[in-house]
Amino acid sequence: MIYADAHLHTNPVSGLGAQKIAREFSKRGGWFMAIVSLPPYHYGLSPTFEGHLKSFELLLAECKAALNEGIRVSCLAGFHPAEVERLVKKGGMDLRRAVELGQRVIDHIAKLIDQGLINGVGEVGRPHYKTEPEYVVAAQLIMDYALEVARERGAVVHLHLEEGGFVTVLDISRRISRLKLDPRKVVLHHSRPRNLVHAIEMKLTASVPGIQPIQKYVVDRKIPPRFVFESDYLDDPSRPGSVIYPWRMAEIEDEMLRSGLYSEEYLWRINVDNIVSIYGVEPPL
Ligand SMILES: [Zn+2]
Ligand SMILES: [Zn+2]
Repeated sequence: MIYADAHLHTNPVSGLGAQKIAREFSKRGGWFMAIVSLPPYHYGLSPTFEGHLKSFELLLAECKAALNEGIRVSCLAGFHPAEVERLVKKGGMDLRRAVELGQRVIDHIAKLIDQGLINGVGEVGRPHYKTEPEYVVAAQLIMDYALEVARERGAVVHLHLEEGGFVTVLDISRRISRLKLDPRKVVLHHSRPRNLVHAIEMKLTASVPGIQPIQKYVVDRKIPPRFVFESDYLDDPSRPGSVIYPWRMAEIEDEMLRSGLYSEEYLWRINVDNIVSIYGVEPPL
């Protein structure tokens, strides 16, 4: 079997970096990774417009490094929903300025997509933790802005969302209809069971953390293979192996395939067919 990681981060400044990660993942059958940018402070950069531009330069180099290891890559740049609050509370920025910065960053991402340098937007969305409602609204304004930018370009978008189950997924489903988006291209990233079951029901694209308990859950509950697995690996040495190492995720899939819990067809749908359909990448030979 060959394995895909539909959402992970790599950090060449303080972590392992894409080359090492891609090499390890490839050894365990990895063929595809969607590499998503981290907020600038993760790379020791300032949270300004220029800091974001530099973080995207690092992302591009990371995507290239993974490609050089023979992995197919989708390269995504975004403005994380937690950034708005951080800019205001830690940076003393006015909330309006923070939203304007987010939109300016998304405009720049649009240019990178137009130049063929990156493939989509990620991650944008809403905070998953409790915070003042205005930060949710601010993050949502940036999310909608990003969704429109992606729609105009047929690009993929990774949404980071709260775990509200039915209401979270219904909101995204209606937003997709309202904004006339292709539901295949709007990925509900980090969908745990609470959101996953509704994403399946409403035919949305869920990317599911491939940790052992959730892999067991999809098997036990006979969840149809209409989702993808992600490691959401942070490549942060202060949180080693969080959320899961991409190669460990592949190993678990492999172990469960060998023990007959997964079928070949099931894993092929998740790791190949769905990836090709979402990301428009060439399937492996
Ligand atoms: Zn996220
Ligand atoms: Zn992430």
